[in-house]
Amino acid sequence: MGIRLRTFQSAAAKAALVLLPPLLAGTAAAQDTETAILPRMTATVCVDPDWAPYEIINDQGEHEGIAADLLRLAAERSNVTLTLHPTKDWGESLTASRAGQCDLLSFLNQTSQREAWLIFTDPVFVDPNVLVTREEHPFIPDLAAVAGETIALPKGSAIEEWVRVQFPNLTVVTTESEAEAFAMVSRQTADMTMRSLIVAVYTIKKKGWFNLKIAGQVPGYENHLRIGVRKDKKGLRDRLNMGVRAVSETERQTIANKHVSIVAQMGVDYALIGRIVGLFAVIFLTNLFWIGKLRQANQKLRILARTDSLTGLANRAALNDRFLVEVERATRYGRPFSIIMIDVDHFKAINDDLGHLMGDRTLITMAGLAKANSRGPDIVSRWGGEEFLILCPETDQPQAEGVAERIRQTVREHPFEAGRRVTVSVGVAVLRPGDDPDSLLHRADVALYRAKNEGRDRVRVY
Ligand code: GH3
Ligand code: MG
Ligand code: MG
Repeated sequence: MGIRLRTFQSAAAKAALVLLPPLLAGTAAAQDTETAILPRMTATVCVDPDWAPYEIINDQGEHEGIAADLLRLAAERSNVTLTLHPTKDWGESLTASRAGQCDLLSFLNQTSQREAWLIFTDPVFVDPNVLVTREEHPFIPDLAAVAGETIALPKGSAIEEWVRVQFPNLTVVTTESEAEAFAMVSRQTADMTMRSLIVAVYTIKKKGWFNLKIAGQVPGYENHLRIGVRKDKKGLRDRLNMGVRAVSETERQTIANKHVSIVAQMGVDYALIGRIVGLFAVIFLTNLFWIGKLRQANQKLRILARTDSLTGLANRAALNDRFLVEVERATRYGRPFSIIMIDVDHFKAINDDLGHLMGDRTLITMAGLAKANSRGPDIVSRWGGEEFLILCPETDQPQAEGVAERIRQTVREHPFEAGRRVTVSVGVAVLRPGDDPDSLLHRADVALYRAKNEGRDRVRVY
C-alpha cells in the first residue's frame, strides 16, 4: 500500500520555482505545455527514510528533503505521478526495488552492483565527498597513504562499495545508519567516516558533534545522485530524464540551500559561520565553500523577496517601486507611458474543474505568455491571484493596445492544461498629466471592468 506523495505545490517546490530568472520562467512554462501533451505515467518510489537532509520519511509518512523536492520537480515536469512505497530503512528499499515492489529509487549513486537491476537518469544533484574525523586527527591530504585506520560507513551504501575497492589500506566497519557512522567516530570507535559535504555539515551541526571536523576532501569521487529506475522500465527512465533536464542549476541550489540549516537561519548566518569556524580545528576550503554559498543565498533571498514564488515574475512589492520611478520619469520628460492589467476569465472554474494544481500551472503558463508577448523594457508582474500587471515605458495608447491585443490573442489560441481554452480580459490605461500610480491603476481597473462586462476576452482602454 503506497502513500500518495504530497503534491508539487509544497512550499519547497514553490521555492524551487522562485528563482527562475524571467527567461527561464518562459522556458518552464513552455515545458509545462509540452509535457502536458505527454500521457501521464505513474510510478512507485522507494526512498531512504533516514538520510537527512537529502531525504527522510517524516512523521506524517511523507517524503521530505532535497531529494524529495528535486524528484517532485522532475516528476512534475515530465508528467509522472509518484506514489511512495514506504520502508523502514535503505536496505529494505533496495530489497523492495530488486523485488519489483517499487519502480524507482529516488536518489542514489550509479554503481556496477546497482546496474544489475537498475538503469539511471542523468544526475539530479552532484555533491562532493569529505572525510570526517575527530578534532585531533591530522589533515588527510591523501587517503591512500593512511595506514591502519578504520572507517565507519553505512551498510550497503555506494561509498562502502567504492572504499572497499579503492582503499584496501582502510578497515571498513559498517553501521546501520548515517548517524551511527558519525557517532562511532565521535566516540572513538572508528577513526573516520566519509560522507557527502551536505550530509556532513548538516549532521555535525544538528547533532552538535563538535569534536568532529572535516579533515579532507576526496577528489575524484563526487556523489552523482540520480534516480534509479528498474531495468524493464526504460520508457519511464527516459521520461523522468526529461524532467531531470528541465531542472535548472539555480533550482537545484535553491532546494539544497533550503534544506541545510545554515541557510535556514539566514538572519544570523555570518555569526553562525563564525562559530563553526571556531569549533572546527581544521577548516580549509570547505568553509570558503560555505561562505560563498551563504553570500549566494543572501543574494537569492534579496531576489526572492521581490519575486512571485509561483510564476517567477516580479511581485507586487517589486512592481510598486518601479511603478513610481517610471511614472515620475515619464511625467518629467513628457514621455508616453502605459499600463496593462490582465485578469484571467472564469479562473475559478479552472480550479474547480481541474484542481488547484492545474490552476497553478495555468498561471505559470500565463506568466510565460505575458512575458513572451511583451517587449524588452516592459515590466511584467503578478499583481495578485490571477491578475497580471505590465508597466510599459515609452509606450503610447496604440502601442499599448497592440501589446494587450497580442497577449489576449495568444492566450486565446494557446492549448492549456487538458486542452482547455482560456481567455483574458484586459484593461489599458495611458499616462495623462497629473497622473500618479494610483490614478493610473484606477483607470486600468475601470477599463478591465468594462472588458468583463462587455463579454470578457477583450481589451478596453480608459
Ligand atoms: P472573472 O472572469 O470574473 O475574473 O472570474 P474569475 O473566476 O476569474 O474571478 P474570481 O475573482 O471569482 O476568482 C479568482 C480565483 O482565482 C479565485 C481564487 O481561488 C483563484 N486563485 C487566486 N490565486 C490563485 C493561485 O495562486 N492559484 C490558484 N490555483 N488559484 C488562485
Ligand atoms: Mg481577478
Ligand atoms: Mg478572473
